[in-house]
Amino acid sequence: MRVVQSWDDGIVDDVRLTELLRRYGATATFNLNPGLHQRQRSFSWRYGDKEVWRLGLDELVEVYAGFEIANHSLTHPYLPDLSPMDLEREVGDSRRWLQDWFQQPVRGFCYPFGGFSPAVKAAIHTAGHIYARTVAELDPVFPPADPLEFGANCRFADPAFWTGYERAKAINGVFFFWGHSYELVNEAMWADLENKIAGISADLAAEWVNLETLFAG
Ligand SMILES: [Zn+2]
Repeated sequence: MRVVQSWDDGIVDDVRLTELLRRYGATATFNLNPGLHQRQRSFSWRYGDKEVWRLGLDELVEVYAGFEIANHSLTHPYLPDLSPMDLEREVGDSRRWLQDWFQQPVRGFCYPFGGFSPAVKAAIHTAGHIYARTVAELDPVFPPADPLEFGANCRFADPAFWTGYERAKAINGVFFFWGHSYELVNEAMWADLENKIAGISADLAAEWVNLETLFAG
């Protein structure tokens, strides 16, 4: 079976997350909004008691070294509400910026707030993306009926995580989980995630792959 994971929004907790993933040789895709990073780390919003900060521009390349980058739009708007011109800018300029910064092809997209429409899908396709992720949960997750409406099996903290994992394994399929690292609000959650990553890496039947490789082959 192949296992993929994606994490959104480019926030400071990704520093700890990428370090954890590297320790276990796990691949992951990070969905970024290049228009929202300032030179220094910047406060973005509160998640419960926790302050969520975005990474600074200067550290992005180092934090995500070795990981796959995908496009999450320039500034994280609800895309179906945009004019055609703003839509092109949000999905096209962002892809060009990310490719330039990270020096890797960016062919994946992740809809901000899960929002899409036929016009949004067309713009994303035209801008050069080969898949786009919604927030829908699918089982089995791959291959999707429409690569521009790709979903995941579950969130990383879903109580049904291992049940879904075993179902995907039984058909030698794909298991895909996702989240935001700011959701990891205490050490117990970090330990639980580490246990999952370690368990998958130790599973001889499982292979970590990048999301794009699912669609490029
Ligand atoms: Zn997001």
